[in-house]
Amino acid sequence: MSSEPIHVLGAGLSGLAAAAYLAKAGREVHVHEIRSDSGARFDGDFQGIENWTSGSDFFDEMRGWGFDPEQFKSDAFDVIDLVHPDDEVTQPRTSSVAFRVVERGTAEHCIDQGFKRMALEAGAQIHYDTRRSPEDCHIVAAGPKESSAVAFGEIFHTDHPNHVTFQLNDKLAPGAYSYLIVIDGIGLICTCLWRQQKRTSRYLNETIAWYEQHYELNRKPIKRVGGKGDFSMPDKYIHEGRYYVGEAGGLQDFMWGFGMRYAVTSGVLAAKAVLGECNYETEVRKGLVPLVRASAINRFLMNRVGNRGFKMVANHWMRDQRRKGDGLAFMRWLYKPGLMRRLLWPVVRLGMLRRKQLADGRVVSRMPFRKSLARDVWEPSPRAEEIGDEWDVIRRGGGRTSFGESDA
Ligand SMILES: Cc1cc2nc3c(=O)[nH]c(=O)nc-3n(C[C@H](O)[C@H](O)[C@H](O)COP(=O)(O)OP(=O)(O)OC[C@H]3O[C@@H](n4cnc5c(N)ncnc54)[C@H](O)[C@@H]3O)c2cc1C
Repeated sequence: MSSEPIHVLGAGLSGLAAAAYLAKAGREVHVHEIRSDSGARFDGDFQGIENWTSGSDFFDEMRGWGFDPEQFKSDAFDVIDLVHPDDEVTQPRTSSVAFRVVERGTAEHCIDQGFKRMALEAGAQIHYDTRRSPEDCHIVAAGPKESSAVAFGEIFHTDHPNHVTFQLNDKLAPGAYSYLIVIDGIGLICTCLWRQQKRTSRYLNETIAWYEQHYELNRKPIKRVGGKGDFSMPDKYIHEGRYYVGEAGGLQDFMWGFGMRYAVTSGVLAAKAVLGECNYETEVRKGLVPLVRASAINRFLMNRVGNRGFKMVANHWMRDQRRKGDGLAFMRWLYKPGLMRRLLWPVVRLGMLRRKQLADGRVVSRMPFRKSLARDVWEPSPRAEEIGDEWDVIRRGGGRTSFGESDA
């Protein structure tokens, strides 16, 4: 086995997972990160690690790879409030863990810092605030480049108990969904925009107004956060000998934006390939690409419907739960290949994805950020205007915005 040092670009989840695995196997590993710390791309927002795209619990998979999920804080959920577009609230539930909420950022208990600790303890060397050319790296784990969708959120103090709400609503979150997550006195309200908009803060203000009206939040804003997602499927996952992992490799859910599980899994697969334990291209195509493809087909269908279609989805989900006694069965079904999805795939490729050659020579099928629709323009409610004004005062007093309209 070669003993040359391995260079990884990006100290996010996928890069750190690869680095930790390789260093544990005794390889010299250098991770090059453009920002000053792992998790700095995010700013304390909550994200969910899904537990439905494989038959096994993701934390068990992580333990199998030698990672310790106790290295970061996580809160498991088996039930959520599902808000239909007409404001009906139902509760998908399961008897196992549906997903776990983790915090992204630079605080000790964040998942990014947990993976950083695991990589360092294994012996990897992480170089922050550095630039290195991707051509000089074996594994490229540098996250998104462009925007196919954006999310805007507000983090606040609250006395509401721990809770997650997922809302399908084409007005508050064009083409997508919003969510409320409360963990130990800190809340996040986030709206995801899958159609490009002007004056994006009005979507967040209106979404906050909606949640305030339906939940006793006693909200005290702290900061506003957000981020972008880049949805592109490359023709090849190994390019000029380099392994593309996580979001840099287009390994992300096109329907809901989930990417952490893909990031860690692909990081491990790339590390195994470097160690000669597997073929990265083959493993990614076998295990991850079918899921990403199914999610792209689901996204294509979601793009074709508005609130009426979302209502049908929510109703179908609840009917499925009544029949099978498990709310997670519907989520698993969404990722099953099946004949219908196989037939739809060529239509999705042609209709939703655009071929593009990237600066590094890779060719990807990219989902462009969709244009806004006439129905995306509406008058804000008086309460949403007040929420916007209140935030302006907080911002002027030092309230931070780590991702805004100009970053999208
Ligand atoms: C607002 C928002 C909410 C989300 N919610 C969820 C969720 O609930 N569940 C879920 O599973 N996923 C969610 N995602 C997606 C998830 O965050 C990503 O899929 C995941 O972080 C991808 O991991 P990664 O390692 O590929 O990239 P990252 O974790 O972003 O790491 C990439 C790293 O590379 C660094 N970098 C970038 N360019 C360079 C360069 N040129 N040189 C060196 N370093 C570089 C970055 O600074 C960063 O540290 C969300 C994303 C956003 C934006």
